[in-house]
Amino acid sequence: MLIKGFEGLKQEIIEANLCTYCGACASFCEHIELDVANQVPILREECPLDKEGVLGCSDNGTCYDVCPMTETDVESLESRFLADGEREEYIGIYKALIAGKTSVNGQDGGIVTAMLIAGMEKGLFDCVVVADRGDGFNAIARIAEGREEIERAKGTKYVQCPMVSKIGEGVKMGRRRIAVVGTPCEIRATRKIQTVLLKEVPQIEITTIGLFCFESFYHDKLVKKTKELLGVDLGTASRVEITKGEYVVTVNGTAYRTKVSALDDAVRVNCRHCDDFVARLADISVGSVGSEAGYSTIIVRSERGERLLNLIEFSRGEVKKEEIIRIAKLKRDKNVR
Ligand SMILES: Cc1cc2nc3c(=O)[nH]c(=O)nc-3n(C[C@H](O)[C@H](O)[C@H](O)COP(=O)(O)OP(=O)(O)OC[C@H]3O[C@@H](n4cnc5c(N)ncnc54)[C@H](O)[C@@H]3O)c2cc1C
Ligand code: SF4
Ligand code: SF4
Ligand code: SF4
Repeated sequence: MLIKGFEGLKQEIIEANLCTYCGACASFCEHIELDVANQVPILREECPLDKEGVLGCSDNGTCYDVCPMTETDVESLESRFLADGEREEYIGIYKALIAGKTSVNGQDGGIVTAMLIAGMEKGLFDCVVVADRGDGFNAIARIAEGREEIERAKGTKYVQCPMVSKIGEGVKMGRRRIAVVGTPCEIRATRKIQTVLLKEVPQIEITTIGLFCFESFYHDKLVKKTKELLGVDLGTASRVEITKGEYVVTVNGTAYRTKVSALDDAVRVNCRHCDDFVARLADISVGSVGSEAGYSTIIVRSERGERLLNLIEFSRGEVKKEEIIRIAKLKRDKNVR
């Protein structure tokens, strides 16, 4: 049998511009490296499994099987990883829907940063994968092991970085309990890694914190558009936010804004083929849609997610379920799979 292997991934996903640059395929395979400039995986050396008759590293080759953009049985992943909660078509499986605000001055209610710090300090995990801020408000995937590193990564960078590649790095460093923050595609890839690669390794525990995501941008194009439309350097911003149809960049206390639709040319092509707004496979999902400014919307999906949320203190606000459903439906209707 000819397995798909990296060649299949290249033809069906990478060359079709569907790669989300999550890094899952490179996480555990020494033959793959990430081309940072072009934001795609490439073969470092020939893949021995691309040849007919050679036993696959998993059914279709692990790189192919863990990719979030290859065929995925979402329902079976839901039943494997999530609790018996309510099921709503656009929100997914959930045990609780909450609006919350912490003392962390994060992107919204600081819920993600507060949970990561508490989870580390109270022994739920021993490292976390975060997206640190790089030059020009870029995102850099990092393994953080302490409060300061986690706090430094707070705030949204509306671009992709290979978060999932860090799971392999963490395991190689000897970490066994790892938390991953990520967009819905990154959480899907993490679940596929757990299913394909880590199913025989129960001592590796992964906690997944999903972020709501309507779309993400190519960093170089976003920098260019920000200059063109707002006249500011993205790298000088103290905060970047997409809210209620507006793109808002704050520099030296002044907020510069434009319609988010003006950024359409900078949206990653793969995002137009993604139908998950709410990270439906995460232990706990967090976003801003559905709650007031300064609060985070929290969707608790599993017992692990519930345990994590119970570690932090936060004040509660009102959550508008219909608003989450409206945006999730808008994304699904707009995009094709
Ligand atoms: C690309 C992108 C698009 C988003 N779009 C929406 C949207 O349309 N609607 C909505 O309601 N919410 C969206 N969000 C989520 C929202 O911006 C906040 O991240 C979320 O509400 C959590 O807020 P917080 O205050 O709890 O986070 P904080 O406490 O500030 O922590 C933010 C965490 O996000 C991580 N992070 C930052 N950038 C990235 C990245 N690029 N990839 C992976 N992790 C990252 C950081 O590591 C940090 O741990 C988006 C997030 C991203 C990354
Ligand atoms: S994961 Fe398997 S199929 Fe993919 S490049 Fe590596 S060895 Fe080849
Ligand atoms: S696993 Fe991630 S990085 Fe690799 S091809 Fe798929 S989307 Fe791209
Ligand atoms: S829109 Fe989908 S593919 Fe694009 S970054 Fe968000 S979750 Fe990933």
